[in-house]
Amino acid sequence: MAAELRQLGFEVTEKFGGYGVVGVLRNGAGPTVLIRADMDALPVAEETGKPYASKATATDETGRTVGVMHACGHDVHMTAWVGTARALAALKKQWKGTLVMIAQPAEERSGGAKAMLADGLYEKFPKPDYALAIHVSAGLPAGEVGICKGYMMANVDMLDITVYGRRAATALRPTLL
Ligand SMILES: [Zn+2]
Repeated sequence: MAAELRQLGFEVTEKFGGYGVVGVLRNGAGPTVLIRADMDALPVAEETGKPYASKATATDETGRTVGVMHACGHDVHMTAWVGTARALAALKKQWKGTLVMIAQPAEERSGGAKAMLADGLYEKFPKPDYALAIHVSAGLPAGEVGICKGYMMANVDMLDITVYGRRAATALRPTLL
């Protein structure tokens, strides 16, 4: 990720907030826009049999060797992030301002964003006027992009609902309204 940004002329800082990458592209006076993608994997062995299936392994916190893959789609994030950086660098004459691109670690087990902020993300680098965070969604058809203001997919809650009632009759005739 760092090498990709460096090639495009960004000032790059690595190992920020753990394994985070921060790239800054200054392009004259204008707003500062931050684009963030998370890039970590999950301790899941990929068994798809696809030629591009992950063969990577890592040691988990209990000392076991486990397979790791981007089961959450973070490989898509990185691809989109690099593509966005390339496009914005190529279109530099058509916009003004500062572009900050961050590759965030540890989204899956949380703490990566916090670690980058604790390391001084907003003090050591230009503070964004606008921040865009991306995440894949299996709920959208291919080729569609969903946008929402505020935070999204930043929490997981569980809710159990018990519905009490009586079973409906099986031979009811539909009523026309
Ligand atoms: Zn994710």
